[in-house]
Amino acid sequence: MSEGFRVQGIAVQELAERYGTPLYVYDGDALEQQYRGLRDRLHPAVEMFFSLKANPNLSVCTVLRGLGARAEVSSLAELVTALRAGVPAEDVIFLGPGKSRAELAACLDEGIRAIVCESPGELAVIDELARERGVTAPVMLRVNPDFQARGAGLRMGGKPRQFGIDEAQLLQDPDLAGRHPHVRLTGVHAYLGTRILDPQVVVENTTRILDLAERLSAVLGIDLDLVDIGGGLGVAYFEGEHDLDPAELTDALNPVLADFHQRHPETRLIMELGRYLTAPAGTYVTRVEYTKTSMGENFAIADGGTNHHMAAVGVGSFVKRNFPMALLSRPDAVPEGTWQVTGPLCTPNDTLGKNLALPELRPGDLVGVLRSGAYGPTASPVHFLSHGYPAEVLVHRGRDYLVRERDGVEDLLGRQPVHQELRSAPVAADRGE
Ligand SMILES: *Cc1c(COP(=O)(O)O)cnc(C)c1O
Repeated sequence: MSEGFRVQGIAVQELAERYGTPLYVYDGDALEQQYRGLRDRLHPAVEMFFSLKANPNLSVCTVLRGLGARAEVSSLAELVTALRAGVPAEDVIFLGPGKSRAELAACLDEGIRAIVCESPGELAVIDELARERGVTAPVMLRVNPDFQARGAGLRMGGKPRQFGIDEAQLLQDPDLAGRHPHVRLTGVHAYLGTRILDPQVVVENTTRILDLAERLSAVLGIDLDLVDIGGGLGVAYFEGEHDLDPAELTDALNPVLADFHQRHPETRLIMELGRYLTAPAGTYVTRVEYTKTSMGENFAIADGGTNHHMAAVGVGSFVKRNFPMALLSRPDAVPEGTWQVTGPLCTPNDTLGKNLALPELRPGDLVGVLRSGAYGPTASPVHFLSHGYPAEVLVHRGRDYLVRERDGVEDLLGRQPVHQELRSAPVAADRGE
């Protein structure tokens, strides 16, 4: 009997038995391959920052740090995660449109590399917090550019947005730095979109961001210590898509970076990478509980679904496209029929895969959603129907580690105080009298 799909030689079947399902399995080798594949080729003036948003697991972050990744965080918990993963504060940047005072204060107290400021009001708060502390706050300005990215899955620039400050507003405000004496404007940030799979689009976006940074620094009189060129590098999920080839990407991108580097040899460039680093490393493993047919269609109902993997349902996309999926426990079995793989939620939207060509599924089979290491449980309604967070396992150097325990009932209920005063005897009518 085939032992099925393996991660670094360890059968997923074995992991499912040891840790239960549903389960996320991350492959440390795949993290390393993604990181090094790009790092070894990318222009040395560029520093690679891991966007924790894509996968905030502490151990995943620790492995990426071990490879040299810096950290881009967007909440207090992400900041603490990065620090506990061993990322020094000077290798952390913090961005996000709604930073609290507590978060901004933590950035200053920890001494991170830079706060990426997203609005004039935020800049005033940073200035005030820095003055109170007697420090100067390093701040990159996030710009909402006038132009739009081409070919990104989700576009950011060229539209009214809650992110960043409009390019036009900045260009009309040459005294911005002067009005904020406790802030040091250290550079410019722009992020033009996500899921980019065309190297030429990355080159085009980067060219425009570097040009924008030069224009802004001239008008605002700021030094370009840092220019954050965003990122948004994609991975192939759907039929017809192709992964970015790091060699092809860097062959096209490095000349643009080298050109800028020649003009600004002191400037450090930042690239933010979330999905690209972690997506290929993750598999969401579910177990089939029941199979049945309904009006001629085959259903396999699994113990996990979109409550742990909202991305697989393709939020907002009209034409549903499936993530790559596989029967993990019997990978050699031959497809014979079309299957709907659904989860435990009481909504028809809880469908991990539609019309999948799979072998005859049976209760007990393990069905996996591949390329699921980014925007998995962290971006899913894990509390819907009170199932809670799934377990997460990381395989690193041939060994498996439980890196997040599955939520149990008490993890959910323990956060809810019991107030005896709320209890009263049911009224007669509700007792059926
Ligand atoms: C979400 C986000 C990222 C990470 O995006 P990926 O597509 O996962 O690489 C980076 N920078 C900013 C500003 C983001 O909002």
